[in-house]
Amino acid sequence: GRNPAEPIDEAELAIEGALRPGSLGEFVGQPKVRGQLQLLLDAARIQNRPPDHILLAGPPGLGKTTLAMIVAHESERPLRLSSGPAIQHAGDLAALLSSLVPGEVLFIDEIHRMARSAEEMLYLAMEDFRIDIMVGKGAGATSIPLDLAPFTLVGATTRSGLLPNPLRDRFGFTGHLEFYEDSDLEKVIERSSRVLDVTMPEDARHEIARRSRGTPRIANRLLRRVRDYALVHGQHQGAATIEDVNAALELYDVDPIGLDRLDRAVLDTLVRRFRGGPVGLSTLAVAVGEEAETVESVVEPYLVRIGFLGRTPRGRVAMPEAYRHLGMPHPEVAAL
Ligand code: ADP
Repeated sequence: GRNPAEPIDEAELAIEGALRPGSLGEFVGQPKVRGQLQLLLDAARIQNRPPDHILLAGPPGLGKTTLAMIVAHESERPLRLSSGPAIQHAGDLAALLSSLVPGEVLFIDEIHRMARSAEEMLYLAMEDFRIDIMVGKGAGATSIPLDLAPFTLVGATTRSGLLPNPLRDRFGFTGHLEFYEDSDLEKVIERSSRVLDVTMPEDARHEIARRSRGTPRIANRLLRRVRDYALVHGQHQGAATIEDVNAALELYDVDPIGLDRLDRAVLDTLVRRFRGGPVGLSTLAVAVGEEAETVESVVEPYLVRIGFLGRTPRGRVAMPEAYRHLGMPHPEVAAL
């Protein structure tokens, strides 16, 4: 299914790479996680050892991959990129781990989607830099121990609760990334507009920030669409106005508070079809034609954060703010 916070194609990925800050100092916002990582890196540097394993948790597009790259860069170590879905068997992980050079930083995105058998291999690898490779089948099967080069694992997950406890416990530190303040997103946009060579007055930057769902990836994406719009329709090449911002975002179905089509579909379905809930996650996901995991980790966190949606033990419920946004009376208010 479509995931609005994920990169769209190779070209977008390349641009995204160009927009990535290269050091902790350039990384905007997230003061808590930045401070925690800084200490971890400084301590490792003093002792001349690889930094402890790091787990980064938070919705897509908040900077987990970027931070993994920064960890490698700041500790002057090579970086290897992989992802949970690419690790289907323990053998995939064994091949990856045994090819690491000493001190390498291994980034595993969506680590909660790794195969179970690989997870168990990873416990030992993280703890003792060692794996057991099974050779043969049935009664004749034996395991051969294999020593690994010391490495730093940086795992990323949309929700740390999706990881089994034994795996979570083996990370020296878990950083929880929060949605960004508008003022931080304005700084991201300012920096990216320099890279993309587009100038914008403050009100235009502010409007993009306000409509980016607290997410730098979305801010950068909207900025590119605004730049396109200004290029085609604008008065001056390379300059975008607030009018360009409003027109471009309307064209791409970004509503006045930054909700996109999927956000609105979830709210609309919850309110109209399920009378505001409570409704179970999987029922809601089927009704909007999305995977439950996408609804849960991409759509819901922001709707919860702005007070539109509640997660209760009996299911998802629409909050009064959501009715107001959809221009509908809240049932309790309407009943008065
Ligand atoms: P995640 O791995 O959490 O999905 P990424 O690290 O891929 O997110 O970030 C997505 C995009 O947002 C990248 O282009 C990155 O440059 C930008 N970005 C994320 N966090 C920041 C930040 N704190 N400052 C500047 N740009 C950021």
